[in-house]
Amino acid sequence: MGGEANSIMVSPFSASYPQLAERPVGKQINSIYRQRLGQFLDQGQYKKQGLMDKLYHVRISGSPHVKLHVWSAPDLSRPTFEEATKKENEYRKTQKGESFGPSWSTHWFRVQFTLPEEWEQERQVEFHWDAGNEGMVWTDAGKPLQGLTGNGNRKEWVVPKEYREVEKEQTIYIEMACNRMFGNPAGGDVIQPPEPNNYYKLSEADLVSVNTDTRALYFDFTVLADAAREFPDNSYESHQALQVCNKIMDAFIADSGSNSSIKECRKIAKTFLGNDIDTSKLYDSDKPALIQGIGHCHIDTCWLWPWAETKRKIARSWSNQCDLLDRYPELRFCASSAQQYKWLEEYYPYAFDRVKQHVKDGTFQPIGGSWVEHDTNLPSGESLVRQFLYGQRFFESRFGQRCRTFWLPDTFGYSTQIPQLCRLAGMDRFFTQKLSWNNINKFPHTTFNWVSLDGSQVICHMAPAETYTAEANLGDVKRSVTQHKSMDQDPTSLLVFGKGDGGGGPTFGHVEKLRRCRGISDTVGSVLPRVQMGRSVEDFFDRLEKKAATGETEFVTWYGELYFELHRGTYTTQAANKRNNRKAEILLHDIEYLATLATIDGKKKGYKYPKKEIDGMWENVLLCQFHDCLPGSSIEMCYDDSDELYAKVFKTGGNLLREAMEALGFDDGDGDGKVLPKAVNTLGWERKGLLHLPTKEEPGRYGLVVDGGMDVVPPYCFADAASVKQSDENTFVLKNKDLEIVVENGAITSLYDIKSKREVVPKGSKANQLVIFDDRPLYWQAWDVEVYHLNPRKELHATSSTTITESGPERVAVSTTTQISDKSWIKTTISLAASIPSSNQPSQVEVDAEVEWHETMKFLKVEFPTTITNTSASYETQFGIVSRPNHYNTTWDMAKFEVCCHKWADLSEHGYGVSVLNDSKYGFATVGNVMRLSLLRAPKAPDAHADMKRHHIRWAIMPHAGGLDERTVRAGFEFNFPVRTAHHPDPRSLDGLLEAFKFREGSSPGLVVDTVKRGEDDEDVSNGDMPAKKGRHVILRVYDSLGGRGRGTIGLGGVRVSKAWKCNLLEDEGEVVEVGEEGIEVELRAFEVASYKLRLV
Ligand SMILES: [Zn+2]
Repeated sequence: MGGEANSIMVSPFSASYPQLAERPVGKQINSIYRQRLGQFLDQGQYKKQGLMDKLYHVRISGSPHVKLHVWSAPDLSRPTFEEATKKENEYRKTQKGESFGPSWSTHWFRVQFTLPEEWEQERQVEFHWDAGNEGMVWTDAGKPLQGLTGNGNRKEWVVPKEYREVEKEQTIYIEMACNRMFGNPAGGDVIQPPEPNNYYKLSEADLVSVNTDTRALYFDFTVLADAAREFPDNSYESHQALQVCNKIMDAFIADSGSNSSIKECRKIAKTFLGNDIDTSKLYDSDKPALIQGIGHCHIDTCWLWPWAETKRKIARSWSNQCDLLDRYPELRFCASSAQQYKWLEEYYPYAFDRVKQHVKDGTFQPIGGSWVEHDTNLPSGESLVRQFLYGQRFFESRFGQRCRTFWLPDTFGYSTQIPQLCRLAGMDRFFTQKLSWNNINKFPHTTFNWVSLDGSQVICHMAPAETYTAEANLGDVKRSVTQHKSMDQDPTSLLVFGKGDGGGGPTFGHVEKLRRCRGISDTVGSVLPRVQMGRSVEDFFDRLEKKAATGETEFVTWYGELYFELHRGTYTTQAANKRNNRKAEILLHDIEYLATLATIDGKKKGYKYPKKEIDGMWENVLLCQFHDCLPGSSIEMCYDDSDELYAKVFKTGGNLLREAMEALGFDDGDGDGKVLPKAVNTLGWERKGLLHLPTKEEPGRYGLVVDGGMDVVPPYCFADAASVKQSDENTFVLKNKDLEIVVENGAITSLYDIKSKREVVPKGSKANQLVIFDDRPLYWQAWDVEVYHLNPRKELHATSSTTITESGPERVAVSTTTQISDKSWIKTTISLAASIPSSNQPSQVEVDAEVEWHETMKFLKVEFPTTITNTSASYETQFGIVSRPNHYNTTWDMAKFEVCCHKWADLSEHGYGVSVLNDSKYGFATVGNVMRLSLLRAPKAPDAHADMKRHHIRWAIMPHAGGLDERTVRAGFEFNFPVRTAHHPDPRSLDGLLEAFKFREGSSPGLVVDTVKRGEDDEDVSNGDMPAKKGRHVILRVYDSLGGRGRGTIGLGGVRVSKAWKCNLLEDEGEVVEVGEEGIEVELRAFEVASYKLRLV
């Protein structure tokens, strides 16, 4: 029995499984085998033994196959192709190894190349060019083909079919720009001011036949090695990837890297990557994908290079993309900024046509709907409107489509009315990622509803890979899930890839890597989320919107601003630029208002609404609001550029204003100064106040603006004129009917509200006190002011005795000079005007400051300690008010230690408050009862000379009985908008017209008519971009400034209107609004921005 039983027990497999161990086999030490992977793609000591030595079959350079001639453009000029290839330009012979410079210079190369006969059958031939700087390949007929990046990046131009005939000399041109992608850094730190003397060595000018299998294996191995390194240690897939990589290396070594071994290696790779990775077809399956890849190229409109270079960057970057879109059917590319498209259209018509064709095909996707990727903290409400109006109109006129997604991946925080304005501009989606840079609190959502002050919402998505310049590595794909914060609602995300900031966009390598990532998901499984290509950002949001609409999910909400917890210095840096922005916005407002009136009732026949000039001004102002320009984070050259543009804006604007006034019948006559001029109030309410009208004989002459803003009458003897007296050594008392101010050594030690019987400055404190802080952020100098700057606070003390500079009765003033250092000083003039009879506006203490500023990493502020108690302060923002804590309870509260305000900030308690007005500042802090206006910073990078000059700044302190209300809103406007004055032979003839488009008495006081302009497409106005429409229209932009439902009547002052509509920002007509005898009745919800289109009879 025993024998039989034994035979049954024998395993059928034992024959193949040896009974005796053949040899010892060790456990693989994973860390060592993982480190070994580095050898395969090594560029150093193992290069010859690894894959990198096998990338190309043959490489040739120099004569007779590559002949180079160069012409250097003079004086750092950037000539066009035609200018550069003029016959008289002498091209001299050159060669690899020669260096070219200095920084910002341009050199044109004529490249004559001849492919050797034996290359007839080569699969891929490339011309490699690397001088460590940027370049552009041109045909000899002047067509820009493709950009070159340098330093190993995008150095290849794939020689197209028409240039592949062997033994035939071909000619191309290469335009070399002596800057890198990030300008001309001095050393390794890119944000230091540019080095003017960089020279660039031409290291490659080679014809190369590419071993396409090796190149494919390079990407196989890159992604596999990432999988081995980045998949969780405890996952089978990580171990599997490591085994595959080591097998590939072993196979390669076994056959000395022969072509057949490379083919074998690829076979091994495909066991993990799948068999479909060599075509776009792998995306054809309809397997659900969590991640949608979209190519993008962030081109900062200026930053570490000037605008002129940006124009070339756009042409380089987008030409590359057109080329890549032809070669990779699954690639989709999106690009924002109408201005960039406009530059391309103007300077590179061939490249623009190529883009246009791809837009038509749906592969090149315009996005963003704005003129530039602008800052959103600092521009006025109307500027934000115009970013959309000019942006969307450009996209519609050139491509027949408007954008639906507002795209601001890199802007420094997002103000609270953006969702409302987006919705009104036809956009219901918003994309960014910048809040991932917060250095205090982690923003808690990836996909959510972002809600405006008025309740309007957009779907916001913040790419969880936390970049808009992803290298499309496996890690980016992985992080799109591991860092996703809204998984409970929806797990999908966008992966925005492509080189950026300095331009560039996706490279072929990015697309190749993504194919392999997708291959892994399809082959190995869900350890790597699946990537989908070939769609648009709109497709992505469509799905989210649908999911929300069907109730499948409910996205969480975020109310109010998306405050960026970094870059708080950008509210203050480059003061002159910010001041110019404010002044230009105001000038444009007044021009549009007066020009509109002039076209309705032009006294001067033939007056035409100066649309073209206004467009030009707006486009320049909008351009300067780019997110590195207005915030102050660009190099000095960019501010030379913007200074020039602003000068142009002010010059044109001055002329337009004068012409509009003339058309209304005003003249510059009456030079003797005896007759007081008439005042034109461009604001939407009755304005009263003192007006300085100096003449040669009477430099201290004043007028009093009264009655609807139209008349100026001489100031009569004020019952309570302003007075000033010296009460002690260096102590002065300034007084009017409302306020009594004590100025001691230049600071206000008492500010007493006579009617309210209230002291505003706490005992022992000093208001209008200048303070200086040490300002050394962790890294980003121009951008950041860090929380610790508040610690070493230094009070500045007057260095001159205070003198009375104006003694009344209309106005009194005292001036004091304070030495800041041996190079810097500030002269402040504190003034008080006589109380204005029957004015509702509270008296203000006005301060005029002249600052000579030459400091290093210092921050100048002015403080106003108050006797107000509250836990939050209010700040004017675009079309509204934002309330922020003035305490540090939580880290979210504390993070707002420096915030953005527009024309005013306010700290109020029940029954009383203090507003601080300014004429050109945006940085503010309220800590407890101390209000602090930020004046000047002194960063040394990236502009070594930022703000080192003379500055003029005005601010005012306005205590007020009662809470925050329209008096502060109006005071903010009046402090900034000048009363325009001129003489008029028959001012009564304008009575009606000058009352038009203003709220009538009895309307809610929070309602503000912000903008009055003509319709974009009116036949007598249209610039021709879009089809003109019959009729003449006035557009009114109105908003509720206080945050409460408001009702009112907009008067028409005799202007005949046949029909009126509510419209959106793009001036599409919506519901009809009744036009009554009195005017137009409107009702707005809290903080609503409403536009109305009025058809003139
Ligand atoms: Zn940027």
